[in-house]
Amino acid sequence: MPTNIVTRLSPNWNERPAFGGEKRLLIDTIILHYTGMPTGAEALERLCSADSQVSAHYLVEENGDIFALVDPEKRAWHAGVSSWQGQENMNNSSIGIEVVNPGHDHGYRPFPERQIARLIELLGYLKARFDIPTQRFLGHSDVAPGRKQDPGELFPWARLADHRFGLWARKYTNDATFIAKKGMVSSDVARLNKSLATIGYAILPSDRFSQETFDALTAFQRHWRPEQIDGQLDRSTQAVINDIADKMSLCKTD
Ligand SMILES: [Zn+2]
Repeated sequence: MPTNIVTRLSPNWNERPAFGGEKRLLIDTIILHYTGMPTGAEALERLCSADSQVSAHYLVEENGDIFALVDPEKRAWHAGVSSWQGQENMNNSSIGIEVVNPGHDHGYRPFPERQIARLIELLGYLKARFDIPTQRFLGHSDVAPGRKQDPGELFPWARLADHRFGLWARKYTNDATFIAKKGMVSSDVARLNKSLATIGYAILPSDRFSQETFDALTAFQRHWRPEQIDGQLDRSTQAVINDIADKMSLCKTD
């Protein structure tokens, strides 16, 4: 366990459901958030207040301080309505970490080095303790696209992936040649929907570029192609999607 973790208990949790008719807990996903409030102190206050009905297991301050709010064996209330790879209600099986940042509504800014270094320490501890698979380190926006933007495009996903916290795509050349956008119907869109579903987004098979496609594609770009967040399919976004979908398929058959 990383040193100097401060315990500040939140009342907002319940028991995780048992899986498979036995008393086995499934804890296989880490969901990363930003706090989205002007200060970390305000976020901590809210996450620990019974009125708010929200919480997370940990909060990592910009100065690197780590607060433990909910026992990771218990179910914290951080993801809300959510799904990934056919699994719903991600609070059941995930550990939620709030990374302090004002977020898009209050002056979104880069995550300081000392904060990310401490986050990496915490993730290393959790990955080892719960045997979290590499591909199950996700953003709130991945499991709730269209509703959530956190932790956002400034979050250092590539750096985390260097530590096997999440997948990353191989290098690609920037090619913004347009392929598809919302409202279009085509075989390219059918393949796009299929790949987004393979990765984990809740997308049904269709050749239509729906609002759900747009939301999932935007969430995908925020995580895996942060240079271009427009909800449109261009050649480079398509290449990154194909690469992540291939890697995700390989992980699933492991
Ligand atoms: Zn969140």
